[in-house]
Parts: sequence; C-alpha cells; structure tokens
Amino acid sequence: MIYDCHSHTEVSSDSDMKAEDAIEAARKLGIGLIFTEHYDFDYKESKHYKEMDFLFDAREYWEKYEALRNDSLLLGVEVGLTVGSIEANKKFIKEVPFDQVIGSIHAVDKLDLYYPEYYEDKKKEQAYGHYLEIMADMVKANPYIDVLGHIDYISRYSPYEDKEIGYREFHDLVDLVLMNVLDAGTLLELNTRRLDSKAVAESLLMIYARYKELGGQYVAIGSDAHAAENVGMNFKMAQDMVDFIGLRPVHFSERKIQYSK
Ligand SMILES: [Zn+2]
Ligand SMILES: [Zn+2]
Repeated sequence: MIYDCHSHTEVSSDSDMKAEDAIEAARKLGIGLIFTEHYDFDYKESKHYKEMDFLFDAREYWEKYEALRNDSLLLGVEVGLTVGSIEANKKFIKEVPFDQVIGSIHAVDKLDLYYPEYYEDKKKEQAYGHYLEIMADMVKANPYIDVLGHIDYISRYSPYEDKEIGYREFHDLVDLVLMNVLDAGTLLELNTRRLDSKAVAESLLMIYARYKELGGQYVAIGSDAHAAENVGMNFKMAQDMVDFIGLRPVHFSERKIQYSK
C-alpha cells in the first residue's frame, strides 16, 4: 500500500481537518495515511506568532489519536528546522512514540517563508541560495529526522516570476543538500502539493533524478493536506515520477523504514 506521508489535522494550528474525514478520504483512495502535525519551536519569535503558534502538546495528541492508530493510519510530526530549535526538536520527538518525523524549513533567519518579508530585499538568486544553504546546514545538524520535507517549499510562496529551484541555476547548493541528506541517513519527501503543473513536475524531476544519481533510493510521498479533499492529491503524477526515476516509495512506522509497495 502507498502512504500519504504528510498531512495536518486540526491539531496543527493552520488546519481544521478532522481526523475522521482524512481517514475516510484515504480509505476511499486505498492508501495509508500519516498525520504529521506542525511543531515549529521558535515560531514564537515570529511577528505572526499571535495568529498561529505552530505548536502542540505531544501527549495530548497521542491521547487524542492513539485509538485510531493502525496499519493504515500512523502518527507523526513535522518539525520546523531552525538554528535555534535543534535541542527542542530532539526532546519533543521523544515525548511520545511518533511513527515518523519530517524535518522542514518553513522559516529562514526567523522570517516565515510564507510572508513577503523574507524576499523583500533579495533577488531570487540570493533568496533561494540562502534557503538552500540553510537547508543543507539544517539537514546536517538534525540527523535524527526521518524525512526532509518539501525541498521546493520556497517555490509555493516566493514572488519571482520563475518560482522553480532550477537545477541548472542552483546545482551546487542542491547537490550539497542532497549529499547531506544521504550522509545523514535521511531521505527526501516528494511533496505533491505543486504537482498539478507539468512544468513544476519537470523541474522537480531533475532534482529527484540527481538524488538518485548521487545514491538516493527512497522517497516518502506526501500531499501536505490541510483539508480532506487534498489527501492523496496528485499521487498519480508522483508515482509516475518515482517509477520513471527508479526511486522506491517508503514510509515510517515506529521510526523504522517501511517499503510501501
Ligand atoms: Zn511543511
Ligand atoms: Zn506540512
């Protein structure tokens, strides 16, 4: 069974998705599902903290959902990777027996990449270059994570005309991220959120093909759904990409790698 390895229920401060609706959506699609709620430890230093805190209580989460946990519904977390959160994340993921830990870059220099501030005084080359540098550093500094989330996160929100992380343009830094992922024993997520565009898929294909070329074998496919209708979104495209490159879809249960098909 293929798993949707990345989803957010109402435990995440930016989602209203009910667990039952997400589970029903996955069941209809015949896929497994992993809840990966947001834990962004130092978001409290952001000026947007009052709107959302991106924190949750691990034990409350476990109590709320433990009875739902089975072979097709696993319980994980998505921790935000920042310079100031390494120790806090390490401690947090031990509070309950999470099945899977995704590590993601959502903020750089304490600026949330969702908002315009990060891009304001930067050309694309600087904004993307610095994002990839920080990502490479954070992968190295957080080897306890199972999966590096959405390498193309910046492309969702940046204001540039061409939003893609072009491999030709950023090959040195993309290679550094990929090599650090492999050195750390981590693996890449293929986030399906942006795969409804063929141009996006083609651009990402170059990065994932390079990952394979450098020795990558496994990939966790995840929708990042914050609403039940997005569970499993664009999975056909993701599976085609993964098959084309020769990567193997995996997920984690009790922090151990599982081969999804
Ligand atoms: Zn994320
Ligand atoms: Zn997410």
